[in-house]
Amino acid sequence: MSKSDKSAILLIYTGGTIGMKESGHGLVPFDFSQILGEVPELQKFTFKIDSYTFDPLIDSSDVEPGMWKDLAMLIREKYDDYDGFVVLHGTDTMAYSASALSFMLEGLGKPVIFTGSQLPVGSLRTDGKENLVSAVEVASAKDANGRAMVPEVAIYFNSQLLRGNRATKVNATAFNAFRSPNCPPLAEAGISIRYNKAMIRYPATTVPLCIHTELDTRVAILKVHPGITEQVARNVLLGSGIRAVIIETYGSGNAISKPWFTDIIRESTASGKILLNITQCLAGDVNMNLYATGKALKEAGVVSGSDITTEGGLAKLFYLMGEYADNEKVKRLLEKNLRGEISK
Ligand code: ASP
Repeated sequence: MSKSDKSAILLIYTGGTIGMKESGHGLVPFDFSQILGEVPELQKFTFKIDSYTFDPLIDSSDVEPGMWKDLAMLIREKYDDYDGFVVLHGTDTMAYSASALSFMLEGLGKPVIFTGSQLPVGSLRTDGKENLVSAVEVASAKDANGRAMVPEVAIYFNSQLLRGNRATKVNATAFNAFRSPNCPPLAEAGISIRYNKAMIRYPATTVPLCIHTELDTRVAILKVHPGITEQVARNVLLGSGIRAVIIETYGSGNAISKPWFTDIIRESTASGKILLNITQCLAGDVNMNLYATGKALKEAGVVSGSDITTEGGLAKLFYLMGEYADNEKVKRLLEKNLRGEISK
């Protein structure tokens, strides 16, 4: 599909429910021409929309960092040819992929909008058409000075545009599958699309796009819970082949105050591991100064994740550890706001 105009959008199809159909043994992705056939509305845009299809198409449960690398390299390769990018992606890991790309694409000056749907685009009540059409509109939107309205990695879903590295999937069945509880939407679509310009991050100057594809994935996630055993905590926090552990804590960053737990935490940080404290709560942030149970973690050298999501924290660790061999440097940068992933 191709129309001559100044704007141009690249639709990147990776798979996901939006493009799935029944195969006899469950939903599987089908090819892009069928999506275009189901959404003739795309023909009404007056600008050029090209497409790129990943091979193989996947259910996003199978996403691996290698695909993020391919995505980042594709965007860099096509960066000068398009005004914006729309990534069709399964919802299950969309927040992980959007978080990863936000760190991998440094100096981004063009929109990279992830979208997908809860119902296949071919089904009668699909949410896929509106999501896709509006994501294209957002990706092509410019301000009065001709700058991209949203030069960020974002997720468009169910009338909301969310910063990619603040979003999380909160509903497995409803159309409003995503939320970013610690960050207001970057835009909301009603009769018109209202952009929340105060929240959108614009690059300060024209910096070239720089992609980072070296990711170190030696991260484990430990969710604290009543009844967690010393052996389980020990296996994860002192495990070999693990460079960093995200500790999903209670409330404002609290964990078990029992000496055995604090001892393992101390042993883990002393061995050089990076421990990142992220709250299990959907909203709010980690404050390790509030309760004695949090203070013990801080004193043991645990880094505060502030109000980052687990998806954002994981992606930030992959990226920083891929960039830097020095764990102390990684820890310092974890506390800095690099891509709008934390509020401070
Ligand atoms: N399992 C699907 C996927 O993530 C779910 C979806 O797209 O909504 O690819």
